[in-house]
Amino acid sequence: MKKIYCILLVVLLFFPLSCGPKERMFRKSVQAMDTVVAITVVATSEELAGKAIDAAVGEIRRIENLADFFSEKSEVSLVNRLAGQTGAVVSADLISMITASVDVSERTEGAFDITIGPLSLLNNFRNRKFASVQEIRSALPLIGFRNIVIDRENSVVLLKKKGMRIDLGGIAKGYACDKAVEILKMSGINSGIVAVAGDIRAFGTRPGGDAWRVGIRDPRAEGKETLLGVVELRDEAISTSGDYERFFENEDRRYHHILSPKSGLPATGCKSVTVIGKESTAADPLATAVFVLGSARGVKLIESLGMQGIIVDDAGKIHITEGFDGRLRQRHI
Ligand code: ADP
Ligand code: MG
Repeated sequence: MKKIYCILLVVLLFFPLSCGPKERMFRKSVQAMDTVVAITVVATSEELAGKAIDAAVGEIRRIENLADFFSEKSEVSLVNRLAGQTGAVVSADLISMITASVDVSERTEGAFDITIGPLSLLNNFRNRKFASVQEIRSALPLIGFRNIVIDRENSVVLLKKKGMRIDLGGIAKGYACDKAVEILKMSGINSGIVAVAGDIRAFGTRPGGDAWRVGIRDPRAEGKETLLGVVELRDEAISTSGDYERFFENEDRRYHHILSPKSGLPATGCKSVTVIGKESTAADPLATAVFVLGSARGVKLIESLGMQGIIVDDAGKIHITEGFDGRLRQRHI
């Protein structure tokens, strides 16, 4: 009897502690990085959540300003302006993004290559403009990640050839996701999910302990709510590259924004590639690279890096990596 009484007392004593103020989800969407950014956090008060989310949005905008290909004020355009002349002194963030990009280039035989910049300048998918054969011919000699020189010690980046340009569009969103998560954690948030369009990173769990859920879109479905399935994430990042967001069609050919650095033309072979890994800075460029490499080489590459993925090829066939089996749930969110 005494024992039961003791246990009851212990339970009563600890009950208020374990319960604490109630945790809720708070969510905010803003326009940044030329897309929609959605941040969801779990917090005990609206004030704490609001402050943390605002700080994370500020961080995403800071990365956007550094990496903006079209703004003359960005560090990227400083590097590009000085190409063939001298190195540019840049921030640690730019050095990190460029180093991570070159790393992916090396692992993919250049399928991912930020020096596709001269082509990014020529193509404009909103205006249905794609580089001509002649324009591509003159741009191709300027493409090659081996002509990027990174001096980490002095935080300097040099592009060896005049006319070279780097475009961080294939990694900046992922990097921004990781940095935003860092800021949320520093602001006292233990659980949340940051989505910069198709680059998403989750940490912790939803209130009640359930994993975060992310839907993977069917790349050719008309309605955006049609999904290939849903995956659960805990302390993971997921990135999708598809040919359905920025594209136009002309004479039965689909012109989209993921380019083969070898031909200068839109990559063929895939409709969408989703990669799951620990960090968005790795998952984002890898999804782009796999899109260029195609499903067979892509599956092998993702597996060799210890990540997971799902690829929809140009015939609509689905390819999954080892370990992905069973993760994709056929249900709508
Ligand atoms: P999204 O920007 O829609 O998330 P991705 O992450 O696949 O799509 O990145 C595509 C962007 O990356 C393009 O808009 C362009 O800026 C850049 N890019 C296109 N092709 C390549 C490539 N082969 N290697 C590196 N960057 C690329
Ligand atoms: Mg991406």
